[in-house]
Order: sequence, then C-alpha cells, then structure tokens
Amino acid sequence: MKEPSDVIAPSINRAAPRVTRFAPFVTRFAPSPNGWLHLGHAYSALMGVQQAEAAGGRFLLRIEDIDIGRARPHFIDAIYQDLAWLGLEWPEPVLLQSTRFEAYEAALKILRDTDLVYPCWATRREILDAIPDPATWPRDPDGAPLYPGLYRDLPDSDRKRRMWEGTNYAWRLDMKKALAWVEKNISEPLTFQEHNLPGGPQTLNAEPAAYGDVVLARKDVPTSYHLAVVLDDAYQNITQVTRGQDLAPAAHIHRLLQALLGLPTPDYFHHALVRDTQGRRLSKQAGDNGVRELRQQGRSAQEVLALLPPPLGTGESL
Ligand code: GLU
Repeated sequence: MKEPSDVIAPSINRAAPRVTRFAPFVTRFAPSPNGWLHLGHAYSALMGVQQAEAAGGRFLLRIEDIDIGRARPHFIDAIYQDLAWLGLEWPEPVLLQSTRFEAYEAALKILRDTDLVYPCWATRREILDAIPDPATWPRDPDGAPLYPGLYRDLPDSDRKRRMWEGTNYAWRLDMKKALAWVEKNISEPLTFQEHNLPGGPQTLNAEPAAYGDVVLARKDVPTSYHLAVVLDDAYQNITQVTRGQDLAPAAHIHRLLQALLGLPTPDYFHHALVRDTQGRRLSKQAGDNGVRELRQQGRSAQEVLALLPPPLGTGESL
C-alpha cells in the first residue's frame, strides 16, 4: 500500500491526472460506526460487492470512525458481524480512519501553507445572527445556511492571538481562494464521472461553490468527513466510489479537494436510497430496520437480502 506521503506530496504537480480508467477496479463501503447497520447500509454494501464482481475488481470495507464523540467500538464489531452474517467478504486488515490522523494533518498543513483554509471561531449562534433573513439566505446542498464569511478576513495577527488563547476553532476552506487556485494551477475544468444516471454514465462538471466555506478540520480533530474521504479513497486506490444518493452533492466538494491536494479522481456511483413504505429514507437515528434486529427476529440472511429494493432484492415488505 502507498505511504501517506505518496498521496500527499505538496511538491508534485497537484494537477494529478485522472488515472482511474486503466487501474484495476476497486470500490468500498465506508460506514461510520455510530449506530447499528440498517437495510440502507446492507443495500449500499451489497451494491459495492455487486459492482466489484461485475467489473472483476475488489470490494473494500473502511471504517469511518473520525467522529470521536459518536464512534463506538461495539458498533465497529457489529458492522463486521452483520456484514459477515449477510455473506459479505472483504480483505483484511480493514482501514480505520482513526489510524490516519497524521495523514489528515499533513494534508491540512498543505492547505494551510497555501493559505486555502482559515481558522474560524464562529459559534452556531454567531452564524445565525450574521444571517439577515434565514428564509432567503442561500443554503448549501445539505440544506445548511451558506457560511456568511465571519473570521474569513481576520488580520493575521488577530488569528495568531486567538489561536494562542486556546478556544476551539474550525478550519474552513476559503472557497473563493480555492477556486482561484484551481483556475491558476489546473488547465482543465474539474469534472468527474457519475455512473448511475438515468441516461447512463456522464461526465459532470464539479460545482463546489454551492458548499461555500466548508469545515475541513477542527482544532482538536484534524479532519472532517470531506477531507478524510478524499485522502482515504486515494490511499486505498479506490477507482469507483459506491455510496448513497444523499452523498451525490458532496462529490463536487470532493473533486475540488482532490485537485487542491493532487489526488486522483475516482469515478462515482451514487445509488438510490432505501425508503420505507412512507417514502422516508431509513436512518440510524430512527432505529430503522436494523440488520441485527431482523436477525434476532429469526430471519435468515436470504430473507433479509430479499427485503432490499431491486435490483438487489424484491423490496416486498419494506
Ligand atoms: N461514512 C459515510 C456514512 O456512513 C459514508 C461516506 C462515503 O461513502 O463517502 O454515511
């Protein structure tokens, strides 16, 4: 496997070529261990397996346990047990994101050194207060109000003083500077291949600006989901990211981060989400259709797999 320094090398040409076309197919399922797996996870994992089988490639499992406040070891064990019970196999050792903080920190340093991130002390309250009319204020693709730019233009001396004071802060991407960096350093528009579209695969233009100044790390946790996921997809030589439709907008910000860090761009396959009879998507928080629960009710793995929507199951009793 590549060393982290190979996938984050600031001195190399950061306009990395798209190398996925001829690389052996590798996809992954990357759950966060902060709850029990539900049928939506089973669907996603199975979809990854199916994609890998169809391409004669590999399927990897990755545990995204960077959320120290919510990730729990017993949920990691449960992920292994439930997926194995469903009949899935994956190569060992499984990559845990909690073992990769140094790589995340190194990438964040590159972004800091090129002045593409800034520390932001804004609390939720301060952000809301800075938004004149929440009803008309633009929102990012996840539905959160676009960050209003507090602390973006703080003089350097103020930043340093505040950082010394020790209060918590977030590292935000300066979207305007990041887009200018791309314009200056990368000759082609940023694109990525989306495979699961009604008309078949398509090359999409990345439009990351819709996300605004996203949080990429915090003072005490040197990464966010967005930063960790692009670094680890590169580290594990993922050629196709297979995941739910809810993360389709995030591919735009991921494509930008790949450009800024000189990482290769995988292809994307965003599959439909599993919904209940009311059309509501399943969620861990709501404790929906846990794989474990169905198993404890005496259902067989075959029966549970049959519950998944087509093309993987029949979706009958959902
Ligand atoms: N860890 C994320 C989740 O559980 C998935 C990330 C991804 O597939 O890119 O929702």
